[in-house]
Amino acid sequence: MTSIFKKIFGSNKQITQENLQITASVKTYVNGKKIEIPHSRKILREPNLIENISIPPFSDEFDKNIKIQDLKDLRRNFTVNLFQMSCNCPEFQEKHIFYTPNHLRRICQHLKDAIDKPLREKNPFLRKVIIRFYNKPEHNFYYLDFEEKHVLYFAGESYWVNVIAENKPDIEYAYNIIEKRWSSKGIPDKAQSLVSEISKIICLE
Ligand SMILES: [Zn+2]
Repeated sequence: MTSIFKKIFGSNKQITQENLQITASVKTYVNGKKIEIPHSRKILREPNLIENISIPPFSDEFDKNIKIQDLKDLRRNFTVNLFQMSCNCPEFQEKHIFYTPNHLRRICQHLKDAIDKPLREKNPFLRKVIIRFYNKPEHNFYYLDFEEKHVLYFAGESYWVNVIAENKPDIEYAYNIIEKRWSSKGIPDKAQSLVSEISKIICLE
């Protein structure tokens, strides 16, 4: 197991290759009767998002202090500097400061909110990736490139694999690995390649 993999899952969790095998069940109706079909699921590939997506540096015009409201305590503000990719909140000082400025794990809530506006036009795909990556720390994130960039992510126990596509980052695509279908949000342009890659990442037994 690589150290990157350890970092992703957090040192307190210490997930090994064996317990990546997740046993779960799904409710299905057969002749009108609800039954549970057990599925054993195996994650075949290590998450690779942080090695593939980094935050481009902000120019010195962003070398200024921005006050950002704290979402846990709305009466508090913290000060963010995007040029330095820094924040004066305790969470940043404890958890994020150790990562390089271009690292996705550098982002605290306040950096995420400060970065939102400049990225909205400049790089809406990266904006979505940063939001999802920050909000879903327990999910497995993968980067895939089929001429167009994609990010897949899923929770350990879910049958839905979420997809962010570079050309339509605002659509929340999701693929159900048991029912083998896309959600009503839509079908991405590279659906076929995505499904084939998903089957190489998660295997149902
Ligand atoms: Zn912060």
